[in-house]
Formats: sequence, C-alpha cells, structure tokens
Amino acid sequence: VIEIGQPEHSVVTTCAYCGVGCAFKAEMRGEEVVRMVPYKDGKANRGHSCVKGRFAWGYTNHKERILKPMIRERIEDPWKEVSWDEAFSFAAARMRGIQKKYGRDAIGGITSSRCTNEETYLVQKLIRAGFGNNNVDTCARVCHSPTGYGLSQTFGTSAGTQDFDSVEDTDVAVIIGANPASAHPVFASRLKKRLRQGAKLIVIDPRRTEMVESPHVKALHLPLMPGTNVAVVTALAHVIVTEGLVNEAFVRERCDWSEFEEWAAFVAQAKHSPEATAILTGVDPKVLREAARLYATGGNGAIYYGLGVTEHSQGSTTVIAIANLAMATGNIGRPGVGVNPLRGQNNVQGSCDMGSFPHELPGYRHISGDAVRDQFEALWNVKLNPEPGLRIPNMFDAAIEGTFMGLYVQGEDILQSDPNTKHVVAALSAMECVIVHDLFLNETANYAHVFLPGSSFLEKDGTFTNAERRIQRVRKVMSPKNGMADWEVTIGLAKAMGFPMNYSHPSEIMDEIAALTPTFTGVSYAKLDELGSVQWPCNEKAPEGTPVMHIDGFVRGKGKFIVTEYVATDERTGPRFPLLLTTGRILSQYNVGAQTRRTENVVWHAEDRLEIHPHDAEQRGVRDGDWVRLASRAGETTLRAEITDRVSPGVVYTTFHHPDTQANVITTDYSDWATNCPEYKVTAVQISPSNGP
Ligand code: SF4
Repeated sequence: VIEIGQPEHSVVTTCAYCGVGCAFKAEMRGEEVVRMVPYKDGKANRGHSCVKGRFAWGYTNHKERILKPMIRERIEDPWKEVSWDEAFSFAAARMRGIQKKYGRDAIGGITSSRCTNEETYLVQKLIRAGFGNNNVDTCARVCHSPTGYGLSQTFGTSAGTQDFDSVEDTDVAVIIGANPASAHPVFASRLKKRLRQGAKLIVIDPRRTEMVESPHVKALHLPLMPGTNVAVVTALAHVIVTEGLVNEAFVRERCDWSEFEEWAAFVAQAKHSPEATAILTGVDPKVLREAARLYATGGNGAIYYGLGVTEHSQGSTTVIAIANLAMATGNIGRPGVGVNPLRGQNNVQGSCDMGSFPHELPGYRHISGDAVRDQFEALWNVKLNPEPGLRIPNMFDAAIEGTFMGLYVQGEDILQSDPNTKHVVAALSAMECVIVHDLFLNETANYAHVFLPGSSFLEKDGTFTNAERRIQRVRKVMSPKNGMADWEVTIGLAKAMGFPMNYSHPSEIMDEIAALTPTFTGVSYAKLDELGSVQWPCNEKAPEGTPVMHIDGFVRGKGKFIVTEYVATDERTGPRFPLLLTTGRILSQYNVGAQTRRTENVVWHAEDRLEIHPHDAEQRGVRDGDWVRLASRAGETTLRAEITDRVSPGVVYTTFHHPDTQANVITTDYSDWATNCPEYKVTAVQISPSNGP
C-alpha cells in the first residue's frame, strides 16, 4: 500500500468490483485516498473485504485515464481533443443523421453494470425517450440474463431469494457453476465459516475448484462435463422424486399441483436416472444419488450458482431446473435456503432492475403494457414505443446487415467481453457512430468516433444494488477528474439530441426511480443514510426492505414447475476439436482487467494459463509451462499450459483477464435459447505445442 500520510476524514462508500457489494470507509487526505478500510457496519460484508476492494483502486489515478472528450471523423483518423459541448454536438449530429438516413430504430445503446443505478436509468431513459426506440441492452445479456428469465418464470421475480446472512442458517450448500472463493470472496468466507460449523457442501463444477480443495471442508464434488448441467440437475430431481423425498406439503400449499405432477412424471423417467445419464454427464451415479439425498433431507438446503449455469445454450433451462429442485424440496421462503445467483459485477442486479433490457421498463415491466407505459409517458412527457428493441447480438447482426448504425456504450468493453470477436469487429466497423463512455481507451474505442471520459466510483454519488438485492450508497470522495460526473455526461448528450433532462443531483434521479418502480417505493438517499441499505422489494408492506423473498407465497402467486428437457449444445467435439474448453476467474483479477491491470500497488499480473489434464498433455507432448496453441472453430490464441488434474481428461480451462489472451477469439456464436446469453462455457478446442505468441 502506498501510504500518503494520516487521513483527515473518511467517507463510507461501496466497492465497485463484484456483486457482494462490500462497504468501505475511504480514509482521505484532501482528495487523496489514504486507504480503503472495510466498513464494520456494512451489511453485506460485516467488516470483511477481499484484496480487490481493499487495494485495487489505484486505477483511478492511472496515467492511461482519458480526461478530455475526443472525436474523429473516421476510425482511421487520430483522436482530436474537444470541449464537452463540441463532443456532445458532434455525437448528437451523427446519431440524428443516422436516424434521418436509416430510420428511428437504427441507433441504440448499452448500459453498464459497473455504473450506478441512477446512471443506467438515465441511459435507458435517453434511449427510450430521446432516441424513440427500445434498443437498450446491458452486459447482463452476456452473464445473468438467463437468471432473469428462469426465476421470473418460476417464482415471479428476477433476483436471488436470500440475503447473505441467510447462509448462517444453511445446513447444505449446493454450489453450481461458480467459484466464490475467486469471484465472490467475502461471501465465500462466510460460507466457509458455516461449513466449519458443520454444514455440508455439494459442488457441481467441471473443475475441482478452491471450494472443493479447501482443507476445512469435505465437499461432494460432481465433476460434470461442460454443457450437461440440465442433465445433472434433472438426475438430482429424478432421485428426489423416485425415492419419495419430495416435500409434498410445501408443493401442495405453495405450487401449482398439476404442473408439479407433470414435472414429476417427466423427471421420474428411467432415462433421467443418474445411471442412465452417467456416460453423458461424466458424474459417478453413486455420488449424484448421495448429493440428491443430502440436499433433500439434510435440513436447510441453499443453492448458489454462477455463470457456469447461465452462460450456456441451455442457461435459462438450468435456472428453471434449479428452481424446480428448490420448490420440490421446500427449500424456499425462509432463512438458510433459496436460489441465489452470485451476480458478477457490482451493479449487474441494479442495471437489470433499472430497465436496461429491450423489452422491460424499470422494475421488470414489459414495454407492451399500456398502463405501465402511461405512467412513464406522463412523467417523461413523451410517447413511448411499445415494441421491444434489439438485444446486443441482434444489434451486431443488424449493423452487419446495414440497418443499425449508431451505438452509445456506457462503461463496457464489448469488443473484449462479447463472444466471437471477429463478428463484433465486423459490426463495430460497419457503424457510422460509436460513442464510448469509459475511463480508458479500451479495445472497443478502436472502433469509436466519440470518446466521452467516464468517472471512477470514487468520483460519483449514486447507488449500487448487490446480489442480495441490497441498494447501497456510493458516495463521492473526490471530484470527477474529467470535470463531469457520468450522469451529467448522459444528460449533456441527451440535451444535444433535443431531449433535455433536468436534475441537479443523483438523489433526484433516485426519487424518480422510486416514483416509477413499485419495488423501490419509498427508497431515497435519506432512507439509505438512515438504514445503511435497503433490500428491494421495498414498499408499503415492507418499508425497510425484504431480506428473504417468497415467505408467504411466490411473487407470481403459485410456484410454477416447468419441464426441462436436456438438449445438447450444437457445439460438439470431434476429431479436429476433441477437447472442451471452459472458463473462470482468479481472485486478484477482475473480468477483462481494465481496472485491476491498471493498479500499481499490488502484484496482480498473473498471466492467463490453460489448465490441461496430464493425460491430455502427454498425448500432445505438452509440458507444464509450455506455450500452446489453443484453436476452436471460431479462432485461435496462444497461452501457457498448466498441467493439473483439477480438470478431468477431455476438459481444459482458462481465465480471460488479459487482452493478449483474446479468449473470446475462441468462443462461438451459440447462445441461450431464451435470452441470447452467449455460450462462453463450452467450446470445442484442440491444443498443440507452440513457440509462443
Ligand atoms: Fe469488492 Fe467483491 Fe472483494 Fe467485496 S468481495 S471487496 S465487493 S471485490
């Protein structure tokens, strides 16, 4: 840590990395951060933190930060620094010009899950009301959109059911497709504490993760083949139904019984038994049966899951299958149980809540609903388009077809984070106006015409909503280094486009959100200051928020069982590409590393490596530390091999934190059938020795 003297004052704010949402006291000397101290009264972290939140804030001062707006006529031209007004006028003229030439629907935008609720709300408002269409999407498209779909279908709401405190009442934790020790470390610590007290752990993951290897814990590990989640969860359901382990009283009282019967008859079929599916899934039937019995009979069973569930062609199906399992065993609606998506980014829950999807206004209300639109139209003083807009992949396709020509990207490097890089490059290259609003000249900015400098979390007022639906204050500890807060930047662009928005502080934006969003009723900065945080739904019935959902009934009324048929992904192994690649994260890096890689004060620079089983390595003449060429049907890259039996034969694994790795050059165009969430977690690949990049 670089100590710069004794602090003079402190400000409580919220970490801008993962969905745990740890509260910190920023200890300040003038406008300099002296240190970030985990805040003991933070309700998500209770005084704990991980290395990222505590030490990786130095990027705010990094020399590569862009502080002046820039424009250029063509992407081949050099950038030219201009005033804010000039940048807004240039961007607005281009976007309006595109609409004149190609039609109203030829432009759109992407909101950021790194930004505040207030900032994402403004971007979707600009698009719906200012652009006049619903071409707004968010990076949740590429991570947890299946969670939104699956949980709203079954329970009636697009969010996790529990608070983190709930884990203290859990007897059996099931982790599916997640590695909280790396990606949600403070939650992992709370879970490990509970495991040390005697709770049991089941891990369903192709890789023997740190949670399985933890010396304090004896986990039941189900090392499934990538892409077979639905088959494994259905086999668990098969055991529960055929061995009479269903909580019938719960199902009769809380769920639609006829839908349950249809589902139970489906999962009871012999073809869904652990034995029948073992060859497909690679999971030992005995271990699978043991896991099913433990979850159904071991007391309070809580499921925690991550992107290893959602980022598949059957991501939504797996979320539904998990919800079925929780309802069948009565593991929902009280502390210690539930279905809990571990949201990746600090405000991915919030960006979804704020209406960042092309079919939904804030609060997950469909844009086609006349009554809902009336409410927004009255307050925004515009007529809204009732037709859902384009999702991110549809925007890319339309750009290549020549019908989508202008994009405003708030705080996301889509070129690095979206699948099939070649396709994204083709789409961005075809557009006539790409506006990047970010801290750094990221990879996407290579294809941009306007660069609007963004602010870090230390420079902004607002709120983030974490994985447990907890709305927390983000408080400005220093002035925006670029001279303009992110919410003011969006307002500047809106005004130049002829849609002025009048707010003098982000608290006024929250007041508008609260007035228009039933789950945020009564939420205000005054209330957040008083209570510390509030978990939505917050309304007349629950004025201080709702830690555990679905206690007396599901939000949709009766819980809905839905049959989940396993359908194999179209991404198949074969003689040319015989191995399956899956991906994950390490503790000290964050996503594509835009912030962590630009933090000087800790050694964060471990390279991405390719984990490969000794058997597969030997067959290919690869030794530990060798460079290897990793090739798929979509493309190829080069990285170093790490030989380990953490992965099974036939499976390889890498992280994706460094731009040089270009992991998304490898990934395919396949996506979730319901939401288009890309299938990052299953790619057929081949590996061969290489001399290096
Ligand atoms: Fe930040 Fe997540 Fe680490 Fe907490 S666990 S300090 S929210 S990165």
